[in-house]
Amino acid sequence: MTRNMDTSEVIEVIADLCKKACYELNDNLIDALKKAYTQEESPYGKDTLDLLIKNAEYAKQEQIACCHDTGTAVVIMEIGQEISWSGMPLVEAVYAGVRKGYEEGYLRKSMVRDPLDRVNTGDNTPCVFHPEIVPGDKVHITVMPKGGGSENMGAFTTLVPAVGEEGVKDFIMKTVEYAGGMTCPPIIVGVGVGGTMDKCAWLAKKALLRPIGERNPVPHYARMEEELLEKINDLGIGPLGMGGRTTALDVHIEYFPCHITALPVAVNLQCHASRHASAEI
Ligand code: SF4
Repeated sequence: MTRNMDTSEVIEVIADLCKKACYELNDNLIDALKKAYTQEESPYGKDTLDLLIKNAEYAKQEQIACCHDTGTAVVIMEIGQEISWSGMPLVEAVYAGVRKGYEEGYLRKSMVRDPLDRVNTGDNTPCVFHPEIVPGDKVHITVMPKGGGSENMGAFTTLVPAVGEEGVKDFIMKTVEYAGGMTCPPIIVGVGVGGTMDKCAWLAKKALLRPIGERNPVPHYARMEEELLEKINDLGIGPLGMGGRTTALDVHIEYFPCHITALPVAVNLQCHASRHASAEI
């Protein structure tokens, strides 16, 4: 049966999610930071992790942004195919939600209207909006504010298939090593393998939403995730680049079938302020 919805119903929900995501780092992330604190061997790394945890707790308690860079708002909307929309264009309602959330929440507006003329739009719109059609009659919304420092250090390449798993791991390691402390570690490493250039980058972004500690169900990807995590933590970059064993909290690889001639790989890095909040309506 069709469910009728007015697009304006998403505005308030998105506004609240923008604020919640920027104010409250999720428990899964805080637990991972606390575990890293107990295991970190470097005194500088340990002190830095302690500061990051205290900062996150203070932001949540005071309901203020946990980082000044409240990012590009990435809005992912899984829309049940049984929904029939009325009202303003959905994308306009999504922008209105982001505008409201960033305004009400005193969140920094970081979007420029044109990458070359650099004039700030003043309300953090447009956001990056990913609608997906799924079975059912619900709308599942995730807001993921993505900070510039970590986003800037992502990379994409299309390898020749002959380089195989070793080539993929080498590209991931080079990307993380080059990024160094500029991504505000400890990071989460999101990897897309396969698809086309656009699909691959999207897989890498979505990989960042998987809970820390959860492995890819396919054994060889799970094994690669564990191997890469260990190698990355052997780099010694450490929390905020201060040195130490905690450079990454996890590595998440997502894959998709691809063309016989190609082996696309995208790496999307996420800083310790890994913010995302979700709701279902
Ligand atoms: S990379 Fe993350 S923690 Fe660092 S300034 Fe940007 S949003 Fe903040």
